[in-house]
Amino acid sequence: MVRLIQISKAFGDVAVLDRVDLTVPAGTVTCVVGPSGSGKSTLLRCVNRLERPDSGAVLIDGQPVGLIRRGNRVIEAPPRLLARHRTAVGMVFQALNLFPHLTVLENIVEAPVAVQRASRADARARARELLQRVGLAHKERSYPRELSGGEQQRVAIARALALRPKVMLFDEPTSALDPELVGEVLSVVRDLAAGGMTMLIVTHELRFAAEVADEIVFIDRGRIVEQGPPATMLGSPREERTARFFATIQ
Ligand code: ATP
Ligand code: MG
Repeated sequence: MVRLIQISKAFGDVAVLDRVDLTVPAGTVTCVVGPSGSGKSTLLRCVNRLERPDSGAVLIDGQPVGLIRRGNRVIEAPPRLLARHRTAVGMVFQALNLFPHLTVLENIVEAPVAVQRASRADARARARELLQRVGLAHKERSYPRELSGGEQQRVAIARALALRPKVMLFDEPTSALDPELVGEVLSVVRDLAAGGMTMLIVTHELRFAAEVADEIVFIDRGRIVEQGPPATMLGSPREERTARFFATIQ
């Protein structure tokens, strides 16, 4: 389970996130939607502390990410501990960001060996399993530049899964792709959902969100305006602002 508790973040004097509370129960999928600049990416980045919130905490299965208790005080975890906490969180970004000088297989093997001290043989075996799962077993020797955008994103998903995360975060994983490549990436995410992976997904693909999400969260100007199951959110939202947003992107 992922819990965000009163997460706030400002850049300069602009409040980008304002006391956001959000819970993603284990084995469920929450999709975050909202206008450009509303704070969606910042929210996701706060989960694994790529962005340090000004206040608030993120708990994964009850464990705070990047924070430790010292006596009565809660302080920043040292970098090495933060790195360990982060392995609980797999993240796939909008931009295609594989290591260009490594093959597909090496891209996936790298983190388990470097971060989790897995043996190279185990990491390879697991990487091949994951490539099978995302339909790219035949591409293990290719380099990222030899892959389509959709294939690159599927490798990125396999790479994130290699650390056996408890939760997966996706930040518009299909928005940099040509339309005909979107489906193959969403289908991998759909399989993960069916397999019970806990996921927090920022997406503009409303139809996909409606299908895969247990909960849709609408965020605007750094605040959660409304959240609920897809049928309610898309069919009969409570807030006028939510309805207006869905009307603009459908
Ligand atoms: P989009 O749908 O366009 O991806 P978003 O909802 O993901 O938008 P964020 O990227 O979270 O929005 O940005 C929220 C606001 O915070 C924006 O106004 C953005 O300009 C600002 N912002 C984000 N990162 C920084 C930063 N590092 N420094 C200053 N301002 C930032
Ligand atoms: Mg964004």
